[in-house]
Amino acid sequence: MSAPRTVTLQTADRGTVTIPEPVWCIGHQHHDPNTAYVDITHSGPDIALNFRYTGLLLAGLVQAPHGTSTAEGMDGPTPGVSVHPLGETLNPAQLYDLAGRLDAYADQLRALADQLTEILAGGAQ
Ligand SMILES: [Zn+2]
Repeated sequence: MSAPRTVTLQTADRGTVTIPEPVWCIGHQHHDPNTAYVDITHSGPDIALNFRYTGLLLAGLVQAPHGTSTAEGMDGPTPGVSVHPLGETLNPAQLYDLAGRLDAYADQLRALADQLTEILAGGAQ
């Protein structure tokens, strides 16, 4: 078994700290040394829904291991999935709910495309 991953970061309030690094974290290449200890956030790779030149949705794992916020939807010690532009961090049930709504929306888009095709073919007014 290999040693647990760690990352060493500069913080505004505690100087240099070394903390455990989850396997899913993509690293802290853009870490700001003025970050407070409680605001250190691990981030996984984002998945994106893009269409043409617009980013519609972005989602990725996040965790603020020393965060003190217990407010729902905020980054805290419990890992979650941050979703933009929603601006919230979701738990698994909330993420499944979002995925279900996207499935339903995709069905509505297909129905709209069917309707438009019919209109353009002169079959409906
Ligand atoms: Zn990390």
